[in-house]
Amino acid sequence: MDLVEFQGKQLFARNDVPVPPPGAVCRTPDEVEAAATSIGGTVVVKSQVKTGGRGKAGGVRVAPDAATARAVSTDIFGLDIKGHVVRVIYVEDASDIAEEYYLSVMHDRVNKGYLVICSAEGGVDIEEVNRTNPDAVVKEPLLPSDTVGGLARDRALEIVTKANLPDDAREPAADLLVRLFDAFRNEDATLAEINPLIKTTDGRVIALDAKVSLDGNAAFRHDDYDEWKIDGIDADDPLEARAKQAGIAYVKLDGSVGVLGNGAGLVMATLDVVAQAGGHAANFLDVGGGASAEEMATSLELVLSDPNVKAVFVNIFGGITRCDLIAEGILGALDQLGDISQKLVVRLDGTNAAEGRTILNEANHPNVLAAATMGEAAKQAVALATSA
Ligand code: GDP
Ligand code: MN
Repeated sequence: MDLVEFQGKQLFARNDVPVPPPGAVCRTPDEVEAAATSIGGTVVVKSQVKTGGRGKAGGVRVAPDAATARAVSTDIFGLDIKGHVVRVIYVEDASDIAEEYYLSVMHDRVNKGYLVICSAEGGVDIEEVNRTNPDAVVKEPLLPSDTVGGLARDRALEIVTKANLPDDAREPAADLLVRLFDAFRNEDATLAEINPLIKTTDGRVIALDAKVSLDGNAAFRHDDYDEWKIDGIDADDPLEARAKQAGIAYVKLDGSVGVLGNGAGLVMATLDVVAQAGGHAANFLDVGGGASAEEMATSLELVLSDPNVKAVFVNIFGGITRCDLIAEGILGALDQLGDISQKLVVRLDGTNAAEGRTILNEANHPNVLAAATMGEAAKQAVALATSA
């Protein structure tokens, strides 16, 4: 589960990672004004959504007084940031920034350990820094010997030094990193990212932003896990949330081929053949066992409403599910959806596959292509997605 910034800061604070003084969580401009009045002086008005780039989108504004805080909050409430509509704002005492750095801890699956990423060039898009100036982003795997009883202080200092943090920031940054690592491990996080980590004008090093993901599989050992779920904050991905509501297993990826199949194993294999054909899946969706026309419609609608989807690969193996019913389901779904721009490549195999293909061929729908094998279907879908 992804936490929003103010929750990440709460989690940091209880693990002694330095953050600005606690602010106020607000749901109306009146609450923002009251919070700014009670904090006093210059405040920062920050949208709380589960996506990055809030600053660029106008979702983070510094306000010199309470009236201005109120005014900017009216612009921020309702703002759509990458599909996440702002309903909650966090008001915090504004920090005086001298410099902005980047620091994160995550799992390192390759090395079966942890990875620390640190850069003296924070505050901005770290992926961009990594592309244009990869040497400025230090990526340090931690050895098991580094992390016995916590991250060794020497190792933390070595990392922030290697990242070229200025002399006067190194000691406090190393202390902070040791605590960040504790927070990561104690809280069963999968990501703890601070961008920017700042040096204030009076020389302190604190986390000005917090992006924390917690491992849902470890929820059983955290009594307060469910308390992180609060009203007004969208789920991690709007489409995933809709799928969850409809009881459909849907995962968003970042390619251009929508993948829809029945059964987790087949769906995984479908991702592989798409990759083998030189493509990238945009998402994958498991329609499960007996997919009715209605479930098919909901599933197709979900896959197609992802703007990255340029073509869809429907891969069905009929076992208990009959392919003729699936074929009718697909056609029924397309009827319900009306005009769509993307083409569907459908591969049916197993129970009543021939009947299913006949139904699709006879319908002669302009957006549906029937393929005989998985490999062929993948090639077609990738070609369509590439040329679209
Ligand atoms: P993000 O855009 O979603 O990553 O949101 P951040 O919390 O990182 O804020 C974006 C930028 O706003 C930061 O890099 C800072 O430059 C600026 N900012 C955020 N909080 C403060 C603050 O308290 N004081 C000042 N002066 N700038 C801030
Ligand atoms: Mn940030």
